This record gives sequence, C-alpha cells and structure tokens, in this order.
Amino acid sequence: KMERAGPMGDMASPLKHFTNAKKKINNIFSDIASYIEEFGEFIDDVGNSDENLIIDEELEDEILAALNQVGGIKDMISRNHMKVVFFGRTSNGKSSVINAMLWDKILPSGIGHTTNCFLSVAGSDEENPGSEQADDGAYLLCGQSNERRSIKSVSQLGHALSQESLSYDSLIQVFWPKKKCALLKDEVVLLDSPGIDVSNDLDQWIDNYCLDADVFILVANAESTLMLAEKNFFHKVNEKLSKPNIFILNNRWDASASEPETMEEVRQQHLERGIAFLADELKVVSKQQAKDRVFFVSAKETLQSRINKLQGKADSTSNMADGYKARLMEFAHFEREFEECISRSATRTKFEYHAQRASKIIDTLYSRAEWLHNRATDLLKDCVERQMFLQQRVEYIDKQLSIITADAKQNITLLSNEAERQVRTAMTD
Ligand code: GDP
Repeated sequence: KMERAGPMGDMASPLKHFTNAKKKINNIFSDIASYIEEFGEFIDDVGNSDENLIIDEELEDEILAALNQVGGIKDMISRNHMKVVFFGRTSNGKSSVINAMLWDKILPSGIGHTTNCFLSVAGSDEENPGSEQADDGAYLLCGQSNERRSIKSVSQLGHALSQESLSYDSLIQVFWPKKKCALLKDEVVLLDSPGIDVSNDLDQWIDNYCLDADVFILVANAESTLMLAEKNFFHKVNEKLSKPNIFILNNRWDASASEPETMEEVRQQHLERGIAFLADELKVVSKQQAKDRVFFVSAKETLQSRINKLQGKADSTSNMADGYKARLMEFAHFEREFEECISRSATRTKFEYHAQRASKIIDTLYSRAEWLHNRATDLLKDCVERQMFLQQRVEYIDKQLSIITADAKQNITLLSNEAERQVRTAMTD
C-alpha cells in the first residue's frame, strides 16, 4: 500500500521503529536510575549500621553524580528526534515538498517568497501556555530569542517571516501541533534551507545544521540538470559525514506532461545521472540502492491533492496535468523509502552515544560495588579468623584445665592415701 492513510499516516509506519526504540531505551534508563538509587540506599544502610565498614564520602558523591548523569541522558533522549534537511536551489520547491509531506500549507512558498534563512518545523504537544488565545500550540522561535510568538495561520507565518531581517545562517523554528501531522507526531524534524545558490558559506551551514541530520533531500528541478553548486554542496557534506543518506527528488515532474514524446528519455537521463552522482561520485550507496533514492515527483500536485482529500473534495482533473496519479504514487513511494531510511539510521546512530556513556557509568558503579563486596568479605574473613583463634584458645585452656584437674585429683588421692597411711601407722604405734 503506497498511499498513506492521511495526514496522520498509518499504524505500520516505519517511523515507529525509532519512536519505539526511544521508549524502550528511556525505560532502560529509568531502570538504571532506580538501581542506582537502591545502591545509594544500601550504602546508607551499611554506613549507618556497621562501624567496621567505613564508607568514604567519595562513594556517596559518585552515586549522586551517576544519578545526575543518568537523569541528564534521559533528558537528552527525550529530546532526540529524526532530522531531515532539504537543500536545493531557490524555487526548486523545497517548501512545497515539506508542505506536501506535512499534508498542509505550513511553510509559505511561491512567488514573492523565498526562504532566506533556515526554517525548521517540529511538533509541539501543548497549547501555548503564554498565549492569551487558544492557538493549538503553533508558535515560532526566532534566532537566539526564547520568546514564543504564536501563529494562527500560514499567511501570518509568511508575514512574520518577511518581517524578520535575519542572516542566511540564522534559524527560525516553527512548532506545529503534533496532532495535525503524523511526521511531526513521530518526531521527525524538517529543516528547510535558503537556496544553495545564495551562500558561499556552505561549510558553516553544514557545521551548524547538518552534523546531526539523518537524511538529506536534494530537491532538484526536473526541468534542468543537477547544478554544480548542488553537487559541490553534497561533496562537502560527504567529507564531513560518513555515508550521509541522500535522496534526490526531481521536482516539477508535472512539467514533463507537456512534452510526452521526450518524457521517458528525459526521465532515464535524470535517473542515470542521479544514480551516477550517488553511487559513482559520492560513493554513498551502490548503484542498485541508488535506484531507490531518485524520484520524479510534483510537490505542487501532491500538496493540492492532499489538501483536497482532507477537505473531502475530489481532485479536479482540469487543474492536474496528465499522469498526475502516477506522480502522486511516486511521491508516496518516496515517503515510504524515506521513512524507512531515516528511522533505521536514527535508531542506529542517535542512541549509541548515550548507551556508551551509560555503560561507563555502570562500569564505575560496578567496580565500587565490587570494592564494597571485597571489603565485606575481608571483614568476614577477619571475623572467622578471630573466631578460630579464640576457639583454639578455649580448647587449649580446656585441655590445660583438664590436665590440672587430673593432676590435682591425683595429688589429692596421693595426699589422702598418705594421710590414711600416717593415721594407720599412728594407731598401730
Ligand atoms: P523553494 O524556494 O525551493 O522553497 O520553492 P517553493 O516551494 O517556494 O516553490 C517555488 C515555486 O514553485 C512556487 O510557486 C511553487 O508553487 C512552485 N512549485 C513547487 N513545486 C512545484 C511542482 O512540483 N510543479 C510545479 N509546476 N510548480 C511547483
């Protein structure tokens, strides 16, 4: 089944691998925290009840520190998400692709608007606590400021963005209600970039925004070939990240409908070039795998059709170019491949660092527990040795006593015999 059930997706979404793994790892860390707490309580008990077993304060501090670290890791895990970044030249349709994936016109796109800074879209759970009116929890954070600005509509967002005079490499974060969109609910964060053509500072972009990206999507224009600027950017990404996951969307494929006679040929040419770029130039996937990384779509049609669907309207064929159904299917196919890729990659990479840190904390505590165990065993051994020593003493004294007693008895007998003999002698005299 290619088409997702709707803006809320379906139950079997591959994104669930990541969200389930996140839940599991979070539970594991809760367990670790409660074991450490128990260890702490045990140490307190021992320290209070046995004056021979002296627990140094350092151990208590270490346990507190371990608890704090585990708390910190849990916090970081709760903030872990899957991140996809969109690149391409201005007007290739990055904002439109993001909107189509979100089933809603969230980012402003089109003539008169260009994304002139980085723009992220992430899910929000809550109603905006600071706002006076209910706004479903949609709000903006601009640049370094922590001030939440509520947004109620796309036009308002467009307006808010045009008011901002931010530099190309600054970030506006859009928070959109999770309940409106499956991708956001399953913790995907989407990042739109200014066109590759507007900046020379691509290294800075990569350092600031891409090092934790799980997937890169190059939104290319199917009406032209890949530009050198686009290729160079991904060469740079490839230098900084090991085997980045890259998808190529040949957008505006609806334009091909107007030239049906050359359509297949053009598609084949773009496909071959895309595969050669990913497999031969960047060497991030094999040629076979690269076939599932290059797609021909129309973000504009997909978005329109999805909005129609949500409003219960049928697609009006007069607005759609020939073959739009196949392009819708291809968009859904792309999304499926993308979801599998991002979920697999994020599950593999995002938790590894936390697991390593946790295993260090556990190792330290284990060695402390081992020390405590050895110390207790030593004390027990001391006790046993002392007991054996005392027992030998007792046995020795016992023996001595019985020798003395036997001696005394013998002497008494001798003495009494002697006395008797003397009495008898006196009587006979
Ligand atoms: P961005 O600058 O890369 O974010 O591009 P936008 O998403 O703002 O799109 C620029 C213009 O191209 C807008 O007018 C879109 O409606 C139009 N556009 C985007 N995707 C498509 C598409 O698949 N087909 C056609 N025909 N137009 C598109």
